[in-house]
Amino acid sequence: MDSGSAANPVRVRLAPSPTGTLHIGTARTAVFNWLFARRHGGKFLLRIEDTDKERSNPAFTANILEGLQWLGLDWDAEPVIQSARIAEHRSAIQQLLDSGHAYRCFATEAELTAMREQQAALKQAPRYDNRHRNLSLAQQQEYSAAGRQATIRFCIDDQRSITWSDLVRGEMRWAGADLGGDMVIARRAAADQIGDPLYNLVVVVDDAAMAISHVIRGEDHIANTAKQLLLYEALNLAIPKFAHTPLILNQEGKKLSKRDGVTSVADFQAMGYTAAALANYMTLLGWSAPEGMGERFTLNQAAAVFDFDRVNKAGARFDWDKLNWLNGQVLHELGSEQLEQQLQPLWQAANFAIEQKTLAWRLKLCNLLGPSLTLLADGVEQAKPFFVQPELTPEALSQLQIPNAISGLQALLALIPDHPIDSSSAQQLINQACEAAGIKKGLLMKSLRAALLGRLQGPDLIETWLLLNSSGDDRLRLQRCWL
Ligand code: GLU
Repeated sequence: MDSGSAANPVRVRLAPSPTGTLHIGTARTAVFNWLFARRHGGKFLLRIEDTDKERSNPAFTANILEGLQWLGLDWDAEPVIQSARIAEHRSAIQQLLDSGHAYRCFATEAELTAMREQQAALKQAPRYDNRHRNLSLAQQQEYSAAGRQATIRFCIDDQRSITWSDLVRGEMRWAGADLGGDMVIARRAAADQIGDPLYNLVVVVDDAAMAISHVIRGEDHIANTAKQLLLYEALNLAIPKFAHTPLILNQEGKKLSKRDGVTSVADFQAMGYTAAALANYMTLLGWSAPEGMGERFTLNQAAAVFDFDRVNKAGARFDWDKLNWLNGQVLHELGSEQLEQQLQPLWQAANFAIEQKTLAWRLKLCNLLGPSLTLLADGVEQAKPFFVQPELTPEALSQLQIPNAISGLQALLALIPDHPIDSSSAQQLINQACEAAGIKKGLLMKSLRAALLGRLQGPDLIETWLLLNSSGDDRLRLQRCWL
């Protein structure tokens, strides 16, 4: 494993558990880690925390890596696979047993439940009462012989006050007595074995082995940090700096959860958000850009100025309007080639016969639609009447039923030449048709839009007509109005 060099001390990591798809909270943590690493020319590393065998799934690992890649969060070394490091984890536990910092606890589930019920009845906070901290060897053997399963617990001194200087939250203080009693660091530890090492222990062992300089993670890990600091001490390991980032909240101000529907990066992708907009938006979830920078920026621009001083302590409320605005900005900045590339797969999925149109035609369509898009998916909905002969909306139908609307369109059709038209001839043809049919220009224009697109809203009418004219679709659509 690459364990760092003295030359650049900044080494950060994202440590996702592959028990689900890439969650927006994890992705935001990834963004902050990436920005900090890039700001300082350090390393952004990944560690896949797959020690929970039952819940971990390689398909989730793949989804997480794909999501990070899609967002542009490149990492600097092969991801560390936590389960491959179990020997190191066990040896650290052995060290804690040997130094008297840890012990085997033989309390059964039933005993622990009874203990918690008693605490609840007395209105006390649930905690392990350290009942097996000082078992004699004979007692241990007795429990073992009786077939009891052991856990290994790490001693937590209730009198301890744990402090650290958090890069986001400032001076932090946690009482040892509030950590719930001696903590389990390994499960299923038969008398002579170490069993399955657990989260707080393995994170400390791995962060130290990876020479992580700054642990940047969500504030839901604050209590873990207090526990982990005690483990660093007991194992005599160098302690990293900590930055706890604010939670992401839903519209009601509660922690964003699965119940809020869209929470995984793939969901946002499927809804038509671009990676650039989502990454930009996540940067703003808890960080405010320096004055004058505005809110639309690239990850690299943010990395040039990223600092924890501008990370808020308060939770960050998810703001769909801002995300939509950013997504619109990103789409408007795209050239027609890039937009066409992004829309092509969506058009194909919608069964539009894109191969019947030339690339030049599709690029013109992108130019036409680009300025009005908020989501990529809008580029499917708005492109539809260009690819597919549209159904008339009720409003479009009423428009065409206005007296003389059809005769105006008939006059226009009669004037359309065989060769493609340009913008000024299109204007002229409209004027001539109005004269010939004796109708107002407004009526003809609105009816033309209804005939061409089947609806009354859409992009610039003349450009719309020119595009449909260039593919010969305008005549068919006009004729259809009175056939
Ligand atoms: N696997 C942990 C999680 O996904 C990592 C927490 C940490 O960064 O230490 O929450």
